[in-house]
Amino acid sequence: MAILFRNGNVIIGNGRVVEKGMVVVDGKLVKFVGPSKKYPPLKKDTVFDVSGKTVLPGLIDAHIHICVDGSPDPITSLLKDSIPQITLKAADHARRTLEAGVTTVRDMGGKDYIDLAIRDGIESGILQGPRMLCSGKLVCMTGGHGWQFGREANGVDEVRAAVREQLRAGADLIKLMATGGIMTKGVEPGSTQFTLEELIAGVEEARKAGRRTATHAQGTEGIKNALWAGINSIEHGFFLDDEAIGLLLDMKAFVVPTLCAPYHIIKAGVRRGVPAYAVEKSRKVMKSHWESVKKARKAGVPIAMGTDAGTPFNRHGENLKEMELLVKVGFTPMEAVIAATKTASEALGLGDKIGTLEKGKLADVVIIHEDPLENIGVLQHKEKIMAIMKEGRFYKCEL
Ligand SMILES: [Zn+2]
Repeated sequence: MAILFRNGNVIIGNGRVVEKGMVVVDGKLVKFVGPSKKYPPLKKDTVFDVSGKTVLPGLIDAHIHICVDGSPDPITSLLKDSIPQITLKAADHARRTLEAGVTTVRDMGGKDYIDLAIRDGIESGILQGPRMLCSGKLVCMTGGHGWQFGREANGVDEVRAAVREQLRAGADLIKLMATGGIMTKGVEPGSTQFTLEELIAGVEEARKAGRRTATHAQGTEGIKNALWAGINSIEHGFFLDDEAIGLLLDMKAFVVPTLCAPYHIIKAGVRRGVPAYAVEKSRKVMKSHWESVKKARKAGVPIAMGTDAGTPFNRHGENLKEMELLVKVGFTPMEAVIAATKTASEALGLGDKIGTLEKGKLADVVIIHEDPLENIGVLQHKEKIMAIMKEGRFYKCEL
């Protein structure tokens, strides 16, 4: 018995739209996508008429921190909370994320492997949440960005050992810290952290195990080191110059801008409890950050949607704000959708399984009352999302 969504405005995820389109789901997979009239339903099929509604692939957030709670000073919370408290919060974050229509996330640094437990809990059906790819602990230099919950390592041999530890724990990918960042007191976003040699060693260990790599990289030199080392994605990318853009294209690497992170920090400010150092650093980088994203887009660098959810006021379940910000930077609404579907799936190495509504892919489907191509902000209104399906299973169905 198949499930049929008929007469919808179907956004495939690759730039195409099928008007009065049909999406057929059989088990976990998409079985057919095309004009409704080309697929006559069988008697035993379940048919939903979705005229006037938009059907999208499940959305993908390529950069979150499931263990981090989006409070004004979340690193302090993370260090103060007990492991059971963090775990409970993380389970709640996972549910909220799925309820927002985000069916896949990539976690970019957890605490004490709680991220991996949440991932496995979702997979085994104990918890509700998106499909997760997790990095385990981020790997950084001593005192480097994220050291409070990451795995500190110095020198080539130790970086290898740190990466191997994450692989042993069950990480799906490896996150290496190439530069300083905003949420760590006393380090600068522009400053280089891991050396080129350390990055090469980390990437090599991941690659040997068939895992992809991502780097937190904000300063120009660190971005280039990571690209020379063969990294698959640059997270944040605040200071991209022409050489960095050229390298991104040559290396076929992705940029995940996480516009939401500095945006929320600046908007909330010290007034609402965000540490002053984080506000100051965000203010300093914001202009260059937006310019970098514009430049990368114009050059044709693949840009995947990612939020850095968990940072101050950047709450789990409000992920699709990032699509609105991408449009503010100059993306068309269709480009923002592609960033959150097809391109994000490719950044995660899952381009053959998810990211577009095409025959043979996993049936991750979101159905919404209005057309996000006319108003990208509509995706943030949960009451307008009528159905959320992950791998052929409904998590919400108000059709
Ligand atoms: Zn992050």
